[in-house]
Amino acid sequence: MSSPTLIDNSITNNTIIWDKSSLPDKIQTFDEYKSLYTLSIEDPNRFWKMAAERLNWYHFPTKIKNTEFDYRTERGIDIKWFEDGIINVCYNCLDRHIEKDPNIANQIALIFEPDIPTDTHHHITYGELLCKVKKFANVLKKHGIKKGDRVTIYMPMVIEACIALLACARIGAIHSVVFGGFSSHSVAERISDCNGTIVITSDFGVRGGKCIPLKSKIDQALLMPECNTVKTVIVFQRYYGMENLKDDCVERRKTLEWVNGRDFWAHEELETVNDICEPEQMNAEDPLFILYTSGSTGKPKGILHTTGGYLTYVNLTFKYVFAYNPGEIYMCSADVGWITGHSYVVYGPLANQATTVVFEGIPTYPDVSRFWNIIDKHQINIFYTAPTAIRSLMAHNDSYVTKTNRQSLRLLGTVGEPINPEAWRWYCNVVGNGRCPIVDTWWQTETGGFMITPIPNVWELEAGSATLPFFGIQTQIFDEKTRKPLEIPDRGELCIRDSWPGQARSLYGNHKRFVDVYFKPYPGYYFSGDGCEIKKNGYHWITGRVDDVLVISGHNIGTAEVESALVQHVAVSEAAVVGYPDPIKNQGMYCFVTLKDNVLESDELRKELIKTVRDVIGAHVHPDIIHFAPNLPKTRSGKIMRRILRKIVEPDIHNLGDTSTLNDPTVVDELIRTSPRTK
Ligand code: ATP
Ligand code: MG
Repeated sequence: MSSPTLIDNSITNNTIIWDKSSLPDKIQTFDEYKSLYTLSIEDPNRFWKMAAERLNWYHFPTKIKNTEFDYRTERGIDIKWFEDGIINVCYNCLDRHIEKDPNIANQIALIFEPDIPTDTHHHITYGELLCKVKKFANVLKKHGIKKGDRVTIYMPMVIEACIALLACARIGAIHSVVFGGFSSHSVAERISDCNGTIVITSDFGVRGGKCIPLKSKIDQALLMPECNTVKTVIVFQRYYGMENLKDDCVERRKTLEWVNGRDFWAHEELETVNDICEPEQMNAEDPLFILYTSGSTGKPKGILHTTGGYLTYVNLTFKYVFAYNPGEIYMCSADVGWITGHSYVVYGPLANQATTVVFEGIPTYPDVSRFWNIIDKHQINIFYTAPTAIRSLMAHNDSYVTKTNRQSLRLLGTVGEPINPEAWRWYCNVVGNGRCPIVDTWWQTETGGFMITPIPNVWELEAGSATLPFFGIQTQIFDEKTRKPLEIPDRGELCIRDSWPGQARSLYGNHKRFVDVYFKPYPGYYFSGDGCEIKKNGYHWITGRVDDVLVISGHNIGTAEVESALVQHVAVSEAAVVGYPDPIKNQGMYCFVTLKDNVLESDELRKELIKTVRDVIGAHVHPDIIHFAPNLPKTRSGKIMRRILRKIVEPDIHNLGDTSTLNDPTVVDELIRTSPRTK
């Protein structure tokens, strides 16, 4: 493995540009990366044309890139890729593999792992999946759904959720998936934001052994006046392993409310259609989906992604970053309600003809060995999850991991938050037995796919760093105060210079907000909202959200760094650090700390933690308050909501802002009750 020498960000200096006429199947060496990276920056048209050639088009685009990144120009922010290309996403994920080789019809496309481990799991082949998708697409058509219509999908993490996405893509309908954990109010908000006319749901879902009523939440949502555009609700029956399900689920099915003329059982509708359904020929810039962000920093935004560029980007990132080999079993633990589920459970893997696991459950049910047992059960080679899951699992005895085999693993990945080096090392050494590289992938709902990420075995990894940019991605850090670009090494606000095919095109129905949020802060650049340190070797270290920086007595301190230091202490499972106003120091440092199993709170431990932070970061960093908190407020995708913690410690508890995306609102009340700042 060659070690990168990227002094002064010079990846592209003195590099021989890639001169072959197609992209390699895999990136093998650092020189290969550099030469392709240089090409992707100096001649994006040629690079992305070769990437687009990995897909099947009805009409191959003659125009590749046509983008404007400066809002001050007459054209304004306008992003078009492959604009005269004609393509269908579903066709590229299913039909084309079978057309190329009829045997692929028998290859497993999806492995369904149900919430309750003793329930039967299911394998579904590419041939079966295609047939089911075509039939369900015909059900949608029968109900009048056509190209451009918005379809809200509110489903548990089951095969039918993937079928619903692919069926929409097949007929050109725009899906808007809403995570099944959201309340009826949050669903209603998202339905009305995109004026949906149809909802696809399930009678119930099962998570952590509990029955989750989905259809009845839709019933409540549709009572709200803003949802009166919805004319049809299609309801799948959750049928897996019914033998084990508790009576309340079965009861729930019997007592479902039913609005005749509006509600239809999917299984009955599927009886009425055939399996002939030609894919809709879509323009590359036709919308593919709308997806609301997870809401860590404020009211969720309806991110709009389009067809050709998105698929080209997720296809290539999946292939290179997971270095996927035909026949390998891949699992991403994300729910399809998040971008990670869209790009790296459904579209990226299927476009690469991979076998991908659809997991209905949670990492801690029935116990904290769940992930590792699934890896053994399905002989998973590539496993991709979130730091929040890793931190919660490492709080328990290692024997929950070590009693499993995990020899099938080749590669591990993470996404969602900065991963602190301690958690990274545990994941690497305990889960991966020190033999699997970890790809720490930095990206966002808005970016569509990986942006900064290792490519395994091509350069060396550093625990906690997302390392280097993917092809076509040029990072630039800025000084928050002077708004000037910074030379590396330094740390600042992370922006991206110039467009890449996977990026969002707009916020649904609100292009102005799109421009304001992402393009006004640094003219000519996409602003990520995250802070980043770029070291001398060019490695990127995401320091968290830019508003998560504390200024204490003139020192800028990234909260992620302090959290990472706290988690290095053996007693700590998780930490969240925020500032509060302090008349002398400008800000005080407030640390919420969750302790591991069976660790007792004490003042002695408080002192030790303060010492740990000072030892790790420096004597200028001194936590003022350590608050032992058994639970932290998190979004439903598992991210800590620091903006709510800030409000608690300010204290300004009557202006908590949008709390609809919180996983468990009672956590907030408990913190308010126990915080020294609110007493
Ligand atoms: P909202 O935009 O509504 O506040 P959100 O930003 O949490 O919600 P996502 O698009 O799901 O919604 O998350 C993207 C963010 O997650 C990034 O901006 C970054 O802060 C964080 N993130 C994702 N991957 C990584 C990573 N590998 N390292 C560090 N941070 C990451
Ligand atoms: Mg965001």
